[in-house]
Amino acid sequence: MPKKDYYEILGISRDAKEKDIKRAYRKLAKQYHPDTYKGNKKEAEEKFKQISEAYEVLIDRDKRAKYDQIGSRVADEAFGPEGFDWSHFTHSHDVEDIFGSAIFDSFFGSAASPGFAGSGGIFDTLFGTREGIQRPVRGVDVRLNLDITLEDAALGAEKTIEVPMSRTCKACGGSGTRSGRSGACPYCKGTGQIRKRTKILLKIKKGAYTGYEIKIPEAGRPPESRIGGEPGDLYVVLNVLPHPVFERRGDDLYMKTPISFAQAALGGEVVVMTIDGKHVKVKIPAEAQTNTKFRLRGLGMPRINGGGRGDVYVEVIVQTPKNLTERQKELLRDALVGA
Ligand SMILES: [Zn+2]
Repeated sequence: MPKKDYYEILGISRDAKEKDIKRAYRKLAKQYHPDTYKGNKKEAEEKFKQISEAYEVLIDRDKRAKYDQIGSRVADEAFGPEGFDWSHFTHSHDVEDIFGSAIFDSFFGSAASPGFAGSGGIFDTLFGTREGIQRPVRGVDVRLNLDITLEDAALGAEKTIEVPMSRTCKACGGSGTRSGRSGACPYCKGTGQIRKRTKILLKIKKGAYTGYEIKIPEAGRPPESRIGGEPGDLYVVLNVLPHPVFERRGDDLYMKTPISFAQAALGGEVVVMTIDGKHVKVKIPAEAQTNTKFRLRGLGMPRINGGGRGDVYVEVIVQTPKNLTERQKELLRDALVGA
């Protein structure tokens, strides 16, 4: 194994203080971050690994003291004959500090273990050495429920909704860093993403129903990784609220209307209001029975894909008169009993 000068690797003097070591590591970690590194990714990984090894040793007081005594043989002792690998790295939180926890999440969140101490596989994710991992991956689709009234569904409507959306920070191009300068990007605070609520105008089609989905392309979650990819889509799932008058069954609407005993017996007319606010006369034939349904053709819900409208069924409920006078009772007795 070639002799390693950890101080040289980090570009610091042998009497560097802890904060100097951190600063040096921070600077180099950004420089060799595979997302921002302009050259060969493999090279970036190798460099990142080297500085992390140096950091692992020098930031630890005991390991550093030993290193100062016995030099790079400390590596054999600490990391075994195979040398340093990511499973030896115990300062994941420092990397998190450097790149911001959101970025950390976006990089490492998909891996099985939350940190990368003890799990070399996570750094593989960072460097894309796992097969296919660097292919741009689409962001996740998001579903959102929206309540609408039956009137909205019948007449069509426009609704403005506000959706939290994350977008790549334009100031830093999503890197979270300030090019050529230390510190996190002030606009996104190092996360590389700007999160804000965006207003979206939704057009609700006539005939919309519960479970109907309106797709808004690319308004879903941004891609997990900053290597690219489109955001997911947003699906607004409609929920039509119950209506005080109408019950909807497919494109048909059912309603109940009271009629008087006399109307039921002698026939007559009742006026009902349709879902679009029109007054319509319903003819009641003589001797109508309670719970009889009368169909009003083509006055129900519009069919969402065109092709007219469903029907309205008006169910009549015969009201038996109350508080009859003795005289009225007598007349009814004479007229109806035994009829
Ligand atoms: Zn930024």
